[in-house]
Amino acid sequence: MEKAIFMDRDGTINVDVDYLHEPDKLVFIDGTVEALALLKEQGYKLIVISNQSGIGRGYFGVRDVEQLHAYMNHILQKHNAVIDAFYYCPHVDQDRCTCRKPRTGLIDRAVEEWDIDLRRSYMVGDKETDVMTAVNAGCRYGLLLSGHTVPGALRKKYRDGLYRNLWDFARHIRLEEVERYE
Ligand SMILES: [Mg+2]
Ligand SMILES: [Zn+2]
Repeated sequence: MEKAIFMDRDGTINVDVDYLHEPDKLVFIDGTVEALALLKEQGYKLIVISNQSGIGRGYFGVRDVEQLHAYMNHILQKHNAVIDAFYYCPHVDQDRCTCRKPRTGLIDRAVEEWDIDLRRSYMVGDKETDVMTAVNAGCRYGLLLSGHTVPGALRKKYRDGLYRNLWDFARHIRLEEVERYE
């Protein structure tokens, strides 16, 4: 079985600009490319789990999202940091789908399609819904301070899985792996 880092996209990998869908507005958060490469080196599958309600709201289409993801990987492949799969929920709250985070539909699909061992996997993101998704799915979590403002109460509540950004998280994971084999 494989282990995976499930990750949110906006505010986790790239700077969160509202309803991002244009490649020329894509800005990777500092250290992200290096973090993805480091995680990949540790043998993790890199799988994006993202709510893209902009589709359901009619702000952009599936094609725009697919193109943006292809563009991301076009850049990342030069750094051995390619994202293995992108899963996204196109719905809005009122659709009551099973895939909008904190629901686990997207992770469930990824687990099935990639033969993922949840106990060795993480879900990281910049919002509490990402943490809840991890808890609901049964994997470990990382809450990042690189995107959405995380209020003090939440920092305290999730302090055992709190990281400055994806790079900080990736370094921590590598230390854990090193310790495991010592
Ligand atoms: Mg986010
Ligand atoms: Zn959905």
